[in-house]
Parts: sequence; structure tokens; C-alpha cells
Amino acid sequence: MEKDTRKLKKEMINVWDALGAEKKDALEFCEEYKGFLDQCKTEREAALHIVKQAEAAGFRPLEDYMKKGDRLKAGDKIYANFKDKNVILFIIGENAPEEGFLFIGSHIDAPRLDLKQSPLYEDTKMSFFKTHYYGGIKKYQWITTPLAIHGVIIKENGEKINISIGEDPGDPVFFITDLLPHLSKEINAKKIDEAIQGEMLNVLIGSIPYEDKEEKERFKYNILMLLNEKYGIIEEDFYSSELEIVPAGKARDVGFDRSMVGGYAHDDRVCAYTSLKAIFDLKNISKSVAAVFADKEEIGSVGDTSMSSMFFENFIYEIINLSAEGNKDLISRRALQNSKFLSADVNAAVDPNFQNTHDKYNASYLGEGVAVTKYSGVRGKSSSHDAHAEFMAEIRGLFNREGIIWQAGELGKVDLGGGGTIAYIPAVYGMDVIDCGIALLSMHSPCEIASKGDIYMMYKAFKAFYQSGL
Ligand code: MN
Ligand code: MN
Repeated sequence: MEKDTRKLKKEMINVWDALGAEKKDALEFCEEYKGFLDQCKTEREAALHIVKQAEAAGFRPLEDYMKKGDRLKAGDKIYANFKDKNVILFIIGENAPEEGFLFIGSHIDAPRLDLKQSPLYEDTKMSFFKTHYYGGIKKYQWITTPLAIHGVIIKENGEKINISIGEDPGDPVFFITDLLPHLSKEINAKKIDEAIQGEMLNVLIGSIPYEDKEEKERFKYNILMLLNEKYGIIEEDFYSSELEIVPAGKARDVGFDRSMVGGYAHDDRVCAYTSLKAIFDLKNISKSVAAVFADKEEIGSVGDTSMSSMFFENFIYEIINLSAEGNKDLISRRALQNSKFLSADVNAAVDPNFQNTHDKYNASYLGEGVAVTKYSGVRGKSSSHDAHAEFMAEIRGLFNREGIIWQAGELGKVDLGGGGTIAYIPAVYGMDVIDCGIALLSMHSPCEIASKGDIYMMYKAFKAFYQSGL
């Protein structure tokens, strides 16, 4: 008798082999996704884009229901936008809230360079912005690459000025300069993470002096004049601004076969986008579902707009208040404890140039589908979220039933480092949580690379999860 070895061994399947005729859908799906990356370079831009799309898809603001005292019923679509940085979309299902909800949580902040509070200075007859990096970056990757400035300036009177320079073909861009190789003997001898230091990430922004020679800092003053003409701001307004230096330009197809997308901040806007699309495409759901788009993940999920914020819990309590009868506090607690949560974030794909950083039997690979990471953490699973095996089995079963290509996703060699994302935060309620995302090349660099097949598979996986009523 012949053995069916495919059933005995876990088979690794390439997404493109699995997609077959759906290959076209996968390529098409990523056209709009590239536009999402281009339009959402900051957490604020992503939050506002998500809200706009949600409104077009029939979601109504929670405050609307609260003000009118409208009761929520199955099929109702609600959203909450917290400070333009953290958004939750929620659809009421048929089942009682005590049975729990199905959450997918991603984050919409990304590694970047923030302007310092007092950023503007001049040196050697040029003007610069000082920056403070946000999240884990390799500093050398940010020099000699075209940069854009996105963000907001809040004036003393509360007026908000939106800034976006460096994206239109007619816009200027900005650069951090580097030393020529001819004079780099000393710097080349340094360790790569010491050669370029944080205080060297100064962005070149101008070189024409202000006309009046009586003025002391003419190069700096000229920039202030230009900014005042264009935006009506003064230097002190920088103190109440959030201006982010991000890579300029659009996401691009990568490869002769156009099988990949190269762009800024797949981490984690790829999970934001795919969960957004998934929640828009649902029909007749049994359990209530939600998509959470959190901020501040890249700096440890701390702060008012992060996953750790009470905003999440408060939102759920408001939903229960408008939809349930009886002891609403108890119902909220039961709902949260019985919920299931996909902590949707990217993983590091094995890079053939750096193979010995991974355990190749447990690492994730580009084009091998959704990476399901049972546990994260550092060394001895320190700061780990380790998902319940029973929940892992449910997810595995669901993905297998729905033809979702998936793989394991341990981040790197055991002793090497590691990391984690938002999973441990909702786990506090006792709900089942597991990490789930796609594997990237050049993660956290100004241009990350993702497989279009994986992106499309992620969307299908998220939709299957919401629709499953697990
Ligand atoms: Mn991430
Ligand atoms: Mn990250």
C-alpha cells in the first residue's frame, strides 16, 4: 500500500502554485493597495483614510449612536476615530455579545524620523531640520535617499495645518547627506550602527540666504520666511507640531514578473489594508467582528493612542451599553474574555543574503503565505505572547478548510534577539490571541518588500476568520 506522505508531512506550498486562476485577482488586489501605501505615509493619514473608506462602506460614528440613543442591532456598522491616530471598525453580529467577538488588530504607525521640537538651524551656509528617530531603524538606510515631510502643525489657537511635501512630481524633496568614499577611511572602520549616529540624521532643507544682511542667521531666517509665507507659521509653532520625515515617492512593482511590491511601511499597513478590505466584504456574520488600527506599536504600544490605551476597552463598553440589556459591566467582561483576536503584524522573511539569522525550519518565507506565529518574545520567550495551542489548532483548521496557505513564523534564531507586537495587550482580558501576518524582506527599511501573493492570501485569511464565527 502506498503511503500518502503529503498527509504525514506538513507541506510547504508556494502561494503562486496555490492561487492558480486567482493569480490575476492577487495582482489586481495589490494595485489599490499600492495607492493605500502612497496616500497613508503617517498614522494620521492612515486613520483618516480608513475613516473615509469606512463611511463610504456604511459605517457610522459611535458618537452618532450615543447622541441619538439609538440601539445597536445585528448588521449595524460602527466606527470610532480616536484622535485621528487610532480607529476601530465594528459590525454587530447575530450572536449574543457574551459569546465574544472576532478581532483583527493591526498598527498604522511605522518607523520614521520625527522632527525635534526645535528642529530648524543653519550651519556652513545651509539650513537643516534636526530629527529624532521613531521605532527601530538602521540609521544608514535613511541617508542619500529622497525624503518627504508629512504631518501637522497645531497653532496656539488650535488651528491645524496639514503638511505634505515631497510626493508630487513638482514638489521638492529632502536629503540627509553622506561622506564621500575618498574621505571615509575613519568612518568605514566603525561599526555599522556607530558610523551614522542619531544626531547626524539632519535633513538638508535649503541654501539661499535671506536678503537682509543685517539678519544674523540668514539661511535659517530665509526658511522661516518661506514657511511663514506658505503656512503662516512662526518658529515656535514647531513646538506643537508632529512632522514626520518619511521616504518620498510611491510604492512600486518589483521584479520582471511584478510579483512583489516595494514600498514604505508594509509594516504594518499591509495588515491594516487587508483587514480593512476583509471587514468591508463580509456577509451575514454570526459573531460581531471588529478591526482595530492602533498607533505607537513601533515604540512599544505605549501612550494614549496605542493598543494599551483604555480607548479599546471603553469602545467595547459603549458598544455593549448600546446593544445589550442587563448587567452591562459583566456582559462586557464576558464578551472580552470570550473573544478571539488576530494580532495582525508582519514577520521577517528569510533573506538568502543573511540566512544564518533564522532557524530555517521555523522561519517564514516570502511567497509561502500567511505566517502564523504561536509565540514571540526574546531569548527564553521573555516578554512573549504564547498563544493557546487549542486556539492555534482552531486557526490552523480554519485556514486548511478555506485553502489559506500558511506557515510558521518564528522571528529569528532563539538567542539572537526577537520581538513582539500587540498580542499580549488584548490577551490581558483572557481572550485567545495569536500573531498572524506576512513575511517581508528588508523589514523596517525605507523600502520593504512584500509578495503580492502573500498580501492577497492575508486578505483571504482575514475574511475567512471574520466569516468563520469561530
Ligand atoms: Mn509591525
Ligand atoms: Mn515594526
